[in-house]
Amino acid sequence: MSTVNAYSAKAAKAPLGPTTIERRAPGPADVEIDIKFCGICHSDLHQVGDKWGGSQFPMVSGHEIAGVVASVGKDVTKFKVGDHVGIGCFVDSQRSLPGSPPNVADIEQYLPNAVMTYNGMERDGKTPTMGGYSEKIVVNENFIMRVPESIPLDKAAPMMCAGITLYSPLRHWGAGPGKKIAIVGLGGLGHMGVKIAHAMGAEVSVLSQTLSKKDDGIKMGADHFYATSDPSTFEKLKNTYDLIINTVSAKMDWDALLALLKPDGTMVVVGIPEEEVSIVAFSLVTGRRSLAGSMIGSIAETQEMLDFCAEHGVTPDVEVIAVQDVNDAYKRVMKSDVRYRFVTDTSTLSKN
Ligand code: NAP
Ligand code: ZN
Repeated sequence: MSTVNAYSAKAAKAPLGPTTIERRAPGPADVEIDIKFCGICHSDLHQVGDKWGGSQFPMVSGHEIAGVVASVGKDVTKFKVGDHVGIGCFVDSQRSLPGSPPNVADIEQYLPNAVMTYNGMERDGKTPTMGGYSEKIVVNENFIMRVPESIPLDKAAPMMCAGITLYSPLRHWGAGPGKKIAIVGLGGLGHMGVKIAHAMGAEVSVLSQTLSKKDDGIKMGADHFYATSDPSTFEKLKNTYDLIINTVSAKMDWDALLALLKPDGTMVVVGIPEEEVSIVAFSLVTGRRSLAGSMIGSIAETQEMLDFCAEHGVTPDVEVIAVQDVNDAYKRVMKSDVRYRFVTDTSTLSKN
């Protein structure tokens, strides 16, 4: 066991503050990681605020973790001390399931007993998981990604959630040359979606609330940029897209978005509004359109994303902050005032 500095929320909606937590001694298949950076995902805000329900406190959030291997258990073969590594949204998962396909590892994030990096329960059924706003984490070697040399750790961190959450549906629904794709919401997830879809060769539009981020979006690789606050956007873009990825965390008019799909097009929901969203059946049936959802990606796919991004020079735009500034950062995320991902510098935790 080791005691490490961390930042936690003691109750729903309480500001985060300094604390210490225990990390288990590495078992034979475990890797002990010195966390260097952790991204702030909007999911952290939903969960710290208990907006989705079921949050457990005290909570150390953070599931966009990048760090350096500090020690390895005796059976570990994939990593060695000093390696640059990442941890995403889950730290364990069932490797086989009765009746499931043999390639179950491809969908391990969807399996019923996947262990979430925080706000979950370890395999022992009694130890709450604690996330990346902390100095160390101990994880089984099968749930760790290798960070390519060309990607600095502060930029690698957000790729563990924001990067894979957009890469996975873009790959699954065939983003590439000849495909028209819209990314709704230019935040942490959305800006990675623009960069990755562009690198895949698709024609990319951003649908943002206003045009205030237009210059940034175009620099990231968007071909077109539209304001959803302008009603003419929805008129002129009817029947345009093969694929829409909706990253918005707030309630929006999904019928209006579905109308922008071509026949047979798909809107993939990755943003998770706290309120119910309803749709009119006509929005789907009139174009044989699909409404789908997608959640992060498997460990293998996350590694594939990192390697793809390294090959194409894709990294997030980050603003590195002290962990002590996390409460202010949360307020700015709520106002969509982030360019485009906050990342906490773990070295500041020693000043707790
Ligand atoms: P974020 O950085 O806050 O970005 C969300 C973006 O949505 C904002 O930048 C803004 O973009 C747009 N937006 C915000 N409020 C809006 C409103 N009232 N109406 C319309 N658009 C609005 O958040 P994020 O970290 O990218 O996460 C987005 C969502 O995805 C969250 O709900 C999060 O929990 C969820 N998530 C899901 C997964 C998954 O696996 N499915 C993984 C990670 C996160 P513009 O300023 O451009 O409009
Ligand atoms: Zn996330």
